[in-house]
Amino acid sequence: MPGKNLSREEAQQRAGVLAVDGYLVRLDVTSAPDPAAATFRSTTTVTFRCSQPGTGTFLDLLAPAVRSVTLNGRELDPATAYDGARVHIDGLAAENVLTVEADCAYSRTGEGLHRFVDPADGETYLYTHYEPADARRVFANFEQPDLKAPFTFTVTAPAAWDVRSNAVHESVRTEGDARTWEFAPTTPISTYLTAVVAGPYHVVNDHYSRELPDGTALEIPLAALCRQSLAPHFDAEEILGVTKLGLDFFHETFDYPYPFGKYDQAFVPEYNIGAMENPGCVTFKEEFVFRSKVTDAAYESRANVVLHEMAHMWFGDLVTPRWWDDLWLKESFADFMGSYALIGARTRYSSAWVTFANQRKAWAYRQDQFPTTHPITADIRDLEDAKLNFDGITYAKGASVLKQLVAYVGAEAFFEGARRYFKRHAFGNTELADLLGVLEETSGRDLKSWAASWLQTAGVNALTPQVTTDAEGRITELAVLQDGDVLRPHRIAVGLYDRDADGALLCTERIELDVTGARTVVAEAVGRRRPDLVLLNDEDLTYCKIRFDAESLETLRTGLGDIRDELARALAWSAVWNLTRDGLMPARDYVALVLRFAGQEGNIGVLQSLHAQSKTAVDLYAAPEWRAEGARKLADGALHELRAAVPGSDHQLAWARFLARTAGGAEHLGLVRGLLAGSARIDGLEVDQELRWSLWLALAAAGQATDEELAGELASDNTAGGKREYTQCLAARPTPEAKAAAWSAVIDSDELPSALVEANSAGFAIPAQRDLTALYAAPYFKLLERVWAERTIEIAMRIVGGFFPIAQTDEQTLAEADVWLDGHPQAAPALRRLVLERRDDLARALRAQACDRA
Ligand SMILES: [Zn+2]
Repeated sequence: MPGKNLSREEAQQRAGVLAVDGYLVRLDVTSAPDPAAATFRSTTTVTFRCSQPGTGTFLDLLAPAVRSVTLNGRELDPATAYDGARVHIDGLAAENVLTVEADCAYSRTGEGLHRFVDPADGETYLYTHYEPADARRVFANFEQPDLKAPFTFTVTAPAAWDVRSNAVHESVRTEGDARTWEFAPTTPISTYLTAVVAGPYHVVNDHYSRELPDGTALEIPLAALCRQSLAPHFDAEEILGVTKLGLDFFHETFDYPYPFGKYDQAFVPEYNIGAMENPGCVTFKEEFVFRSKVTDAAYESRANVVLHEMAHMWFGDLVTPRWWDDLWLKESFADFMGSYALIGARTRYSSAWVTFANQRKAWAYRQDQFPTTHPITADIRDLEDAKLNFDGITYAKGASVLKQLVAYVGAEAFFEGARRYFKRHAFGNTELADLLGVLEETSGRDLKSWAASWLQTAGVNALTPQVTTDAEGRITELAVLQDGDVLRPHRIAVGLYDRDADGALLCTERIELDVTGARTVVAEAVGRRRPDLVLLNDEDLTYCKIRFDAESLETLRTGLGDIRDELARALAWSAVWNLTRDGLMPARDYVALVLRFAGQEGNIGVLQSLHAQSKTAVDLYAAPEWRAEGARKLADGALHELRAAVPGSDHQLAWARFLARTAGGAEHLGLVRGLLAGSARIDGLEVDQELRWSLWLALAAAGQATDEELAGELASDNTAGGKREYTQCLAARPTPEAKAAAWSAVIDSDELPSALVEANSAGFAIPAQRDLTALYAAPYFKLLERVWAERTIEIAMRIVGGFFPIAQTDEQTLAEADVWLDGHPQAAPALRRLVLERRDDLARALRAQACDRA
């Protein structure tokens, strides 16, 4: 399909001659409950002006059939006007009315109008997801962010359904089994931000009101939605509570009244991402509706996402990047605001910056060290580029750099800049220069060189302390060494930590300074007694990898867990993980640190990261000959901590899940089976449905769960979540047949939604089963191009990432990856990028193994 991949040049050309006055979109989804119905009727009438009458242009549309195209009363032949991706029109007038009538397809991949049938009760649910460019799967339009327009949606659906869109509905009309919802016109928004949610959703209504500075009242109807069968688990009050705190906070901080009327938040099935900021109609993955006990880290993460999406109502929806080059403008800002607002809005999640340091930055560091990394301001040539740019740079590094910018210009100047930006560009589109412009106004600082070094270059710096002392142990010089391809200005705090009488490591002095160039001397430290630990980037103000001097590293080996400050401790954990990933600390030493100190880690989110990272350390970074011992140590440690944890605590649950992930020996698996059967108990540990599935996965992977047992568990949890877990358990069984079935289910058929593609690949690719999956490495490289050509990008990305033979950590597999890369210079850049990144993960594992072996 030649026109499917819209380029930036095409978008610029189109925006140069067109101005859109409005869309009228009619959708008829009354066929949705019929599984045999593959399509729904979609009619778009778009009114637009053209500054060069006589020329032609095109609309974007991905539809199985176009029934009619009418331009200014003139019928065009769909057979010639429509090429499968674009509706070509010519002979434009100065003012135009175009109507396109099409049959569009219900989606199973979460792209466009997704259709889901609930296995629990047979009910059908629909929702849309478009970013960056899938509105064209639902209605014909000019699919680019800078052709904003008011949208008026009319949706005809089964009479029993609730239907939501960006705006409130103005009327509802029932005729027989169908009901037609007419929605009010939206304010001008971009195509990718439009939304429809339809189905017998369970709805919880609420209301927010606030007096504005001019004395008028702002009234915002609130609603939270989920599937009916999830309603018993839906804690809407908690979600709506965070919502109201957020609305208070953003109104105070942004000084611009919420511009989209009502605020719906729908939790939807088989969602490919965390959430999407559709104005007035936010969609979330329904895994945020917790069916079983989860740790507080999960609640914090959900609250963060609620606030992230809400920040987008201003940054992204009210003011929108012109093209996907500046995607980061909205994502970095929203990502930063998610954490900032958790604290600023006075939610109960006061450790938001610890989580940010622990998780978002880990994502950014990983992405920024791939050979495919890019400057925060990326060069996005087309939609395929755009699709891959929803990455750790755009979100997490960008947010980290904004945190540094706030330290650099001050919070007051930063938010005053934001306030001016919203007022100046409301309902418009912007580029980086527009944001930098207002920030220069409010801060009085020249941000061009700052932007050049932070936004227009790629890569992460490492900062290392260099300490020299005199005979009495006093500091004669403390210097900060910076390395990296580009040296940047860093506003940092240097924390000096000493042990107190009880052995706790406490900050005894904190020095803030600007680090510039390769070597910066910390003058204030001279004359002070050498501390036990020098922690660079204390408070996590800048974005960098932290290294240590030899004495500080020794302090961490014996006392990392004794650091009292939660954020400082999280930074130390992050730093030793980076050392491990970089092949500077043997994986077994990292594992030893986790086994020694994770039991006393108070922050539940950090603890869960330590679990995941220590598992990766054993699976990929440890020398193969030590793997079995490392795995046994993790499982023993998990069992020990599980028994020691406070009954009923989040920590107890986290250790139970970690035991399930690491269990291998007879003792561990015996306990796992006992917990499932009820014959073993751990005081305070409730073996609820999600934990049961984790335990079954352990048994399945060990070859100790029968087909009947797994089917029996599914029968008692016949839900969407249950189906996913069951699928993963089947794929995890250690037999050639199970691997073949999982492979075939994904590769030989395109029937599976992305959630089940993921479940299959996760079960298939268990690292400890590398002997069984080794024979799939060669076929994997053979089918890459076919998968990329034939599957939608969401599914293709999951296959390319999920089935890469990462567990085959040997030179031969690395060579196979290189042969493919060398032999396919013309493959789609986005496909090459994914393979390059996985290949880099593999090369990194080999380097780490060499370090661990030495
Ligand atoms: Zn976002």
